[in-house]
Amino acid sequence: MDRRKFLKIGAAGAGAVAAGSVTSFAQEPEKVKIASEAVSAQGYVSEPAREIPVVAACDVLVAGGGPAGFAAALSAARQGCSVIVLEKGGFLGGLWTGCAVLPLNCMGANVAGEWKQVVYGYAHELNRRLEDIDMSIFERRSPVVDPEATKYMMQVMLQEAGVKVLYYVQAAALSMSGDRIDSVIVESKSGRCAVRAKTVVDATGDGDIFFWAGDPFRHVKHHIGAMWRVGNIKEDNDLKRTPTPIPGVRLMHTPGEYDQDGLDLFNLSRLTEAMREHCWKRTQEIRAVRGCEDAYVVDTPTLVGVRVTRVLESLCDVDVDSVMTDRAYDDVIGIAGVDINMKWEGQVHKVGNRHPWQIPFRALLPKKTQNLVVAGRCFGYGDGITYDAREIGTCLVTGQAAGAAAARAVLERSAIRGINIKKLQKTLREQDVRLD
Ligand SMILES: Cc1cc2nc3c(=O)[nH]c(=O)nc-3n(C[C@H](O)[C@H](O)[C@H](O)COP(=O)(O)OP(=O)(O)OC[C@H]3O[C@@H](n4cnc5c(N)ncnc54)[C@H](O)[C@@H]3O)c2cc1C
Repeated sequence: MDRRKFLKIGAAGAGAVAAGSVTSFAQEPEKVKIASEAVSAQGYVSEPAREIPVVAACDVLVAGGGPAGFAAALSAARQGCSVIVLEKGGFLGGLWTGCAVLPLNCMGANVAGEWKQVVYGYAHELNRRLEDIDMSIFERRSPVVDPEATKYMMQVMLQEAGVKVLYYVQAAALSMSGDRIDSVIVESKSGRCAVRAKTVVDATGDGDIFFWAGDPFRHVKHHIGAMWRVGNIKEDNDLKRTPTPIPGVRLMHTPGEYDQDGLDLFNLSRLTEAMREHCWKRTQEIRAVRGCEDAYVVDTPTLVGVRVTRVLESLCDVDVDSVMTDRAYDDVIGIAGVDINMKWEGQVHKVGNRHPWQIPFRALLPKKTQNLVVAGRCFGYGDGITYDAREIGTCLVTGQAAGAAAARAVLERSAIRGINIKKLQKTLREQDVRLD
């Protein structure tokens, strides 16, 4: 049927239906945009409009239970807010615990000529609790944690704070009122339902929430790889791989394939199989190394190693110049450490000589949506600082600040961007965050 004829029949039939439903006859159904240009639609099917049951409500909803989501939820709950975390997997920690990414990087930097820890707050608290049970060791410049202990300790800390974590629940769409998110629609084993929230933290790593909200972002392709653990390594061995808290267990790493799109569903499946095969075969190869003759795979990653996909175009993206010139911001919400040597203005700056850098509150704020704040590997930063910006230490910093800000917005009954910055900074200092 051609469109004009369809509209005519729709208009004729309109008198017989309630006024609110007439528009559905007069409009083309909206075509849902595919997140990656690499995936094309082979036609369309219609999804009928339906009423979604609201199954829960909270002050602060955190989408994603990775490092950023964990810190955000803890911060908001410790300020007395009701907090729900939506996590599509069955554990906390995201890539940190699910991709065996165990070194907690970006915790330190060069301060006045000396390498020092610069990140405190919940990153420090969690690591200290892991050290207390011998599940975090210090290697080179970073703590290295045990993934199972970290999943468990994150769970304990969120339970202590009264956070409700909903596992196996994927945030799938939004219900918006103008530029505010009213509810997050989820897919779950109970079916499609909604969770209503006053404020939302996007800690999905991939910026799923700001994508659906229609906020601008950069689509980044990066290398997608894997980390995994091998066991039964004799302590006196030739394997130059990072030790872990469990004796005889070492951390393996492959950078994987370069320039990969982590929003392409077919590519993600292909890479998951390729990475699992690599982990298996590479472990068999290292049995030829002295001291590794009886090595075996302890675990392959539950999550394929997607480093970056969407990066928010925020109110103030942190760029390489601000990182390298020690720029200070009035709205600073935390400082982060450094991870790599940095080439800047024609010179290589060795990681051991690099300084900590400040993150402004505006780097967590989308341009449009009023009750949304973004944390973790998808907050607003420029291309040149991808490594420092997405490491776990930095994710814990932005997560803690995002949760504190979301809670302040609830307490002040304000849009997130309208909250009192001095009060936010005071809250963060009380939570042991260093701002300078
Ligand atoms: C191979 C590899 C090696 C790395 N090495 C290091 C390293 O040595 N040291 C270091 O510090 N960093 C390292 N990183 C980076 C670091 O692991 C990540 O940048 C960091 O974990 C990001 O934290 P996040 O909370 O922003 O996101 P993630 O860790 O990705 O967590 C996001 C969470 O949200 C959930 N989620 C996503 N979408 C939805 C949705 N729609 N609904 C519900 N839940 C959702 C996911 O299941 C996940 O639990 C590495 C990364 C990779 C891939």
